[in-house]
Amino acid sequence: MTSSEETALVWLRDDLRLDDNPALNSAAALGLPVTVVYVLDEESAGIRPLGGATRWWLHHSLARLASSLEARGSRLLLRRGPAGRVIKEVAVHAGATHLFWNRRYGQPERSIDAAVKAWAGENGLEASSFQANLLFEPWTVKTGSGGPYKVFTPFWRACLAGQEVRDPQEPPARIPGPPQGGRLQAGDELDSWRLLPSSPDWSGGLSATWTPGEEGARHRLADFLDGPAEEYGTGRNLPGIEGTSRLSPHLRFGEVSPFRVWREIRQRFPHKVPADVGIFRSELGWREFCWQLLYNNPDLATRNYRPEFDRFAWQQPGRSELAAWQQGRTGYRQLWQTGWMHNRVRMAAASFLVKNLLADWRIGEQWFWDTLVDADAASNPANWQWVAGSGADASPYYRIFNPVTQSRKFDAGGRYLREFVPELADLDNKSIHEPWKTGVPDYPEPLVELPQSRERALAAYQQLKDG
Ligand code: FAD
Repeated sequence: MTSSEETALVWLRDDLRLDDNPALNSAAALGLPVTVVYVLDEESAGIRPLGGATRWWLHHSLARLASSLEARGSRLLLRRGPAGRVIKEVAVHAGATHLFWNRRYGQPERSIDAAVKAWAGENGLEASSFQANLLFEPWTVKTGSGGPYKVFTPFWRACLAGQEVRDPQEPPARIPGPPQGGRLQAGDELDSWRLLPSSPDWSGGLSATWTPGEEGARHRLADFLDGPAEEYGTGRNLPGIEGTSRLSPHLRFGEVSPFRVWREIRQRFPHKVPADVGIFRSELGWREFCWQLLYNNPDLATRNYRPEFDRFAWQQPGRSELAAWQQGRTGYRQLWQTGWMHNRVRMAAASFLVKNLLADWRIGEQWFWDTLVDADAASNPANWQWVAGSGADASPYYRIFNPVTQSRKFDAGGRYLREFVPELADLDNKSIHEPWKTGVPDYPEPLVELPQSRERALAAYQQLKDG
């Protein structure tokens, strides 16, 4: 092959951005024509199919990415199928001599990538992978005895002490498109993937809340750093205000690089990062911790991290009980409407399901997987297991969130309740937290009595502890 026929292939996955995208930059720097491809893989062994809300997000994110690529002289090739096979086909068809991607950390994904890399080596292609989506790659952070950390605080301390966070890379000014003519590949039409919901189309609340894509992510980050960041320590606990960054779906799809977030913080606070912003940074650390857990425990979403929980006597919730919880009929309705839920309310809702209803955490994890726009293969199971007590550095078993107390403490003025449970809007700030006591017409009865269900949970956990 002559050099004029050489091309580079960039395989994008959970890194749907041009900014700080080392795979894309390295390809563009070669000066060869570049083919940029995204593969929707719902078939390879072990790949977890996306839930409804993330499918919605992915559609819009890909559409925006395709426009950004076109604006720089390139285009996005869409293909569907088992990624290992599809990438080889695309590479052969494009006559690719170089293959680039940013690394991912789930076991099935790593197996696919390793197989593609091996194939590339055998066929004379140069495959290069990069660190782009985690600040600290899981295998680089180890305890003194060489194992993975099981507790967050020492993990995060080791991360910060051990490595400098690299600077983000600027996006390439131009990305030479794939060669015109014979080698231009036919891809799928995005619409043909049917990622958007229809009959019914439940995405109205999502569209009203979110702007998927890199630009939306950039705005969120700037708004957060200009606004609530310096009061994050208290603001992050109050679901009625926008006290957190709401970057989670953007980070989930890699529309913003964690390196960019880190750098923006340093730029805004060059002398000293305020304590509240430091707390925010440690939340990014939780994301890293969750990925480190998944890396070392590939079946985190299906298996108790602490095996003694295999003996736990979960109760199968009744169908109507579960539906009431899922749809937030008794209060937690933000998720159902917007595809996102404030962390404090996630903790309360999860605690209610696994402790007050004694339902297996996997039921809740799967529901969140389907309904969250930020549903993340690591953070979702890790946090569910944290709440259930079966996870790493988990919440102690006797910590059972009382939803009424939580509501009184963190939504004292009832702002959050009034927004998401509007039928309660006229109640005063005292009675709004226990609406079933006030005779609001048609308000459902509580699913369980809080004190009794708390005692039941404590007894079940005690039994586990006693062996
Ligand atoms: P901020 O408070 O602004 O935090 C900044 C970023 O730090 C977040 O965007 C997120 O990437 C990361 N982060 C914050 N808290 C956590 C945490 N506890 N664990 C891991 N990363 C964190 N987060 C997800 O991104 N995807 C999930 O699927 C997910 N499922 C969850 C399930 C349960 C039961 C619970 C209790 C929490 C879950 N979280 C999940 C963590 C957390 O609730 C969200 O990351 C956070 O609410 C996102 O809002 P934000 O971007 O405004 O967060």
